[in-house]
Amino acid sequence: MFTRQLTIAAKSGKNVYENEYIKINNLPYARELNGKITIQEIFRNHWDEFKQICKSNNKPIRESIHKNVEAMINCKNFKKGYLWYECPKCGNFEIRGLSCHSRFCPSCGKKYRDARANEISKTCIYAPHRHITWTIAEELRDYFQRHKDMYDELFAAINDVLTYLIQGKSKAARIRNERLGFISTIHTFGRDMKFNPHIHTLIAECTIDKNGKRKPYTFFNYESLRKAFMNQLLKRMYHFLKKNANTKELNSFCKLRQDLFKNKGAGFYVNAPQKECRSPSQIKRIVNYVCRYAGHPAMSESRIISYNKDTKTVYYYYDPHEDDAIINDDDKQGRQYVEETVYEFIAKLIVHIPEKSVHTTRYYGFYANHSSLDTFHQPKLFKWEEISKMKSSLNWRSRLIQSYKYDPLLCHCGATMVIVPDLCFFEGYTKEDG
Ligand SMILES: [Zn+2]
Ligand SMILES: [Zn+2]
Repeated sequence: MFTRQLTIAAKSGKNVYENEYIKINNLPYARELNGKITIQEIFRNHWDEFKQICKSNNKPIRESIHKNVEAMINCKNFKKGYLWYECPKCGNFEIRGLSCHSRFCPSCGKKYRDARANEISKTCIYAPHRHITWTIAEELRDYFQRHKDMYDELFAAINDVLTYLIQGKSKAARIRNERLGFISTIHTFGRDMKFNPHIHTLIAECTIDKNGKRKPYTFFNYESLRKAFMNQLLKRMYHFLKKNANTKELNSFCKLRQDLFKNKGAGFYVNAPQKECRSPSQIKRIVNYVCRYAGHPAMSESRIISYNKDTKTVYYYYDPHEDDAIINDDDKQGRQYVEETVYEFIAKLIVHIPEKSVHTTRYYGFYANHSSLDTFHQPKLFKWEEISKMKSSLNWRSRLIQSYKYDPLLCHCGATMVIVPDLCFFEGYTKEDG
């Protein structure tokens, strides 16, 4: 059915033909034929049933979940609006549905993640950086699932620990207000998608004080960081629960806290793979990695192996993170495969939708927005041109050119299509695509 289009494209030159070929293969229809499974499709087919089940089980669904899921289901649905592009040379046209802009949407979430990664990159000063991962004891996870506001304590405990590291034992450092600069992002999921709140921190290996004086800081003692993090988090959780939990929950927490002090002498697991990070390109690479890694979704669609609408099952895999640290292949658990009902799958995914008010990425020390410490005179990691290039690559046309290697606006006749505002249609959406 696309022969005519491809024949015209072939006459317009090799580039145009190749572009048209990839464009056609990326149509949603063609992707479905090629067996591409999308999270959108699974939710579109089963979300109403899932809501019904929750209702009959008396399990209310949070408002922000409703909003994000419904936006995602309608992402690029022509009924909700579209943009109309036309070729000035041959009159051929192209219609594009509007994006939902939900962070939960696999395609829009990617754009959100890249935009945030750019923001972080823009902030970074020119200094080596490292990536620290902070995890909590498994027994504490339930408390965070019940008290979503307690994420603040998790972020704050890390800030306490890293501030104390510099100012705790030095009065002079306190007077000079010497601080590290770091950016923390919360993940609420592990690789298996189960609820497992932990934090990724990108930290510059230097301090800055109130006089703008900068000093390298490269020695992090992980043994003491682990213990300090555990103590500080348990202390903060105790004060939080004292205010917000009932006596029964508080008592069981106190008991658990005692057990943890007894059994986790080494503290909670804090991990920082030491990668060589000195040259500008190495520093940029690690910053890019952490930025993009920190924003990744609970489930990448490429991990879904199969989905059956009739039996209502999803089959997917994950690679356990414990394996990352193991060198010998025989000792690894290896790739894990999971088969579950679409309802279990949906339930696992939506738990990770944050409340709108929760800031999942936060800036601290000399990177904090309100910081009185001066980073203005510090050389930046990325040049202005690099930042503006990152910014322009966020627009949907550049994204398609970059990731899928085709220009959506290149017509099969070789000319470039232009938008026709009068023929565009919007329903309930205020923001334009791209
Ligand atoms: Zn044309
Ligand atoms: Zn979307």
